[in-house]
Amino acid sequence: MTFLNRKYQDLTPYTPGEQADEEEYIKLNTNESPYPPAASVQVAVTKAAQKLNRYSDIAVEIVAKPLAQYLGVKEEQLILGNGSDEVLSFIFQGFTEKGIAFPDVTYGFYKVYSGLYQVDSTIVPLKNDFSLDLKDYDELPGTVIFANPNAPTGIYLPQAEICEFIERHPERLVVVDEAYIDFSGESMVPLINQYKNLLVVGTFSKSRQLAGARLGFAVGNAELIADLNRLRFSLNPYNVNNLTQAAGSAVLQAQDYVDQKIQETIEIREWSKQKLMQLGFEQTDSQGNFLFVKHPKLAGETLFAALRDQKILVRWFNQPRTKDYLRITVGTQEQMEQLLRTLKIILAEVKS
Ligand SMILES: *Cc1c(COP(=O)(O)O)cnc(C)c1O
Repeated sequence: MTFLNRKYQDLTPYTPGEQADEEEYIKLNTNESPYPPAASVQVAVTKAAQKLNRYSDIAVEIVAKPLAQYLGVKEEQLILGNGSDEVLSFIFQGFTEKGIAFPDVTYGFYKVYSGLYQVDSTIVPLKNDFSLDLKDYDELPGTVIFANPNAPTGIYLPQAEICEFIERHPERLVVVDEAYIDFSGESMVPLINQYKNLLVVGTFSKSRQLAGARLGFAVGNAELIADLNRLRFSLNPYNVNNLTQAAGSAVLQAQDYVDQKIQETIEIREWSKQKLMQLGFEQTDSQGNFLFVKHPKLAGETLFAALRDQKILVRWFNQPRTKDYLRITVGTQEQMEQLLRTLKIILAEVKS
């Protein structure tokens, strides 16, 4: 017997990468930052803990103000959420009356939220090389959402192509999920004043070391943001808790630290690409904080399991187009050196 409403009985929930013991595993499976947040974050959170008897500020002022300034937008053009996942959920709940379209190989939550909100969704295959061609979305009605750079492929779509699509379809909402934009590429944020049908989603989880704090945002024209706030205030106005607000505020004051870690990650990513190529791996030109690789001699699942045996966790997506690939988060230099040593051993065993 079940008490669950019939319309939810066939829901397929999101499958997160596992959260393993870091003493035991090198964790390269969920695209978190391998670095702790700046020391000032801990101080700020400890201080905020003194005030946990009080509800959080629904305007999230201590984050919204400096973030709006950093992004060059007005505060009424910004909404903060409990992770960008929550903001994405509002988008799927609220802006999909004419349906929504997204790529076949992309962030798994788009499909999950389509199911949750029972949205009419169209899944559009990426090209053979995993690139995105927005012309494939021209004939569809409704909203379009994609990640740029995309995940798990890491491929970046040049801004000009997005602008052309937005201009061809002024009556359709275009949502660009920029979870990885800090690791390469040009953000669409400066264009929100120009395009009323553009919504840009961002997160503190990947480049800002706060995955566990849950802090994300969307930027768009004030009417779009007001509509998102209607949904937010109808569910949980206190969606960003006191500790997370303090953490987010401190992170924004430690931009130099954030920038330095981003730079390190980019350098390690490019170094790792070279080394993986020398080991015979094929890969996309990832612009995120992760790599998307396959080896001609080893199935993705085999490689995933072999790495797991050696206490290295990566992500394997068991789907037709991605099952030969692994998505490997860019860790610290030491972690990536360990990964490469391990891969070398695994590959030597295959060849012999
Ligand atoms: C990680 C990720 C998110 C979710 O980020 P949170 O802010 O942690 O919820 C959203 N979109 C993409 C493409 C991601 O990779």
